[in-house]
Parts: sequence; structure tokens; C-alpha cells
Amino acid sequence: MNKRSFLMGLGATILASLFFFDRSKQVAAVESNHIKRLNKPHEAWRSMVSPEAYQILFEEQTEPPGSSALNDEHRDGTYICAACFLPLFESQHKYDSGTGWPSFTQPIQGHVGTKNDYQLIFLRTEYHCARCGGHQGHVFNDGPKPRRERWCNNGLALKFVPDSETLPSLRG
Ligand SMILES: [Zn+2]
Repeated sequence: MNKRSFLMGLGATILASLFFFDRSKQVAAVESNHIKRLNKPHEAWRSMVSPEAYQILFEEQTEPPGSSALNDEHRDGTYICAACFLPLFESQHKYDSGTGWPSFTQPIQGHVGTKNDYQLIFLRTEYHCARCGGHQGHVFNDGPKPRRERWCNNGLALKFVPDSETLPSLRG
């Protein structure tokens, strides 16, 4: 091995160890927020939520704009999944987007999952409860600064728990 190839090998080793070091940190960060996914068939939720909520949560329907009482909810508290009760949003991140759907600038980290959705031809990003998989809404990039995210949620897929009440236990 000449000096040049030795140095190149050394450089590659350092780069590789930096990469793996960084990666292990990322994995740890994700795992600290990890929500265990319930292995429960959609049908099993039918008796636990209203028929209208079931259509949204497990058949990916959308409620009419302006129909949710949560549009006018301004108290401090937590928005939880209407099916499994996992907290998904905090009131401090709710804002009036003018769309007619409850809107948030960010979810509780790690408590929602996303997937691409082409239902309206153009690409939208669908998001759902990370625990039960129930469909919540879509996230867009036209929200307020600094994150510019608009998490547009169906009110029927959420329940609001004011700070004066205790959060219910997770169910499922
Ligand atoms: Zn859920």
C-alpha cells in the first residue's frame, strides 16, 4: 500500500464512521418518539366511533368545510385521535387558516405518519394517527411562518380535551 492509497483509505474510514455515528443518533431520536402501531383491523373500530367519524378515519372521507365545532374551539388543551385517543395536536399550534377545517402549524412530533395521496389527481400528503392508522387530514406547505406547514384536519377525526380535564387513557 502506498502512502496515497493509505491516506485515501483512512479518509474513507473516517467518513464512514462519521456517517454511522450520525445515523445512530438519528435512529435514537426517532425511537425516542416511537409510537407502537396497533395491529387492529379497521372494522374493529366501527362500534367505537360514530358512523361519520368512521368514514373519515377508516374510509378516508373528508367532512364538509365549516361543519366542525372545533373550528371555533379556542381553549387551551389537546386534540386527540377520535379512535384510539392518542394526542395528535396541541392548542398552541392551532390557527385559523380560513379553510373551514381545524388547522395546525405542526403535530405532536412522531404522533402522525404521512403518505402520498393522488385522490385529487395532484399530489397531496395524507397523514394519519401513528398508533391506529386512522386518517386525519392532509398537510400542505402554505401555512404560516416559520414552518409554513398547514395541517388541515377533519374535526370529526379529533376530540378536544381542555387542559382542565384529564386526558383519557389510550384505547384499542
Ligand atoms: Zn389513533
